[in-house]
Amino acid sequence: MSDTIFTKIINREIPAEIIYEDELALAFSDINPQAPVHFLVIPKKPIATINDIAEEDRHVVGHLSYVAAKIAAEKGFAEEGFRTVMNCNEFGGQTVYHIHLHVLAGKPLGWPPYTDKLKSALE
Ligand code: AMP
Repeated sequence: MSDTIFTKIINREIPAEIIYEDELALAFSDINPQAPVHFLVIPKKPIATINDIAEEDRHVVGHLSYVAAKIAAEKGFAEEGFRTVMNCNEFGGQTVYHIHLHVLAGKPLGWPPYTDKLKSALE
């Protein structure tokens, strides 16, 4: 798989507001936040989409949720609540082909994401 902008962030070739790092994962603020708190947790291993997760990657992908909850506890929004989202391919709205867990928090979040209003706007 070719490098994406997220590999460049891992390698510190482009700047990002990095909030957490360990041997498997990196977390940094989303450049276009959709909630008062919005950051991404990514594996250091480049995996293009959820469809490309290999059997040996399972612990890495599970680790992303662990990191999300760890940061939520540290930043104090775990009890209030938050949402994690991982988009896949075109219909899922994926734009960067290096899997990433969105973590959104800081206000009540709407659900479901595909509302009648959005449906009519897309038609
Ligand atoms: P997705 O649409 O699920 O693939 O999400 C990609 C996310 O990456 C979007 O929320 C973007 O705002 C975010 N993003 C793209 N480039 C950067 C960057 N250089 N630094 C931080 N976040 C980024």
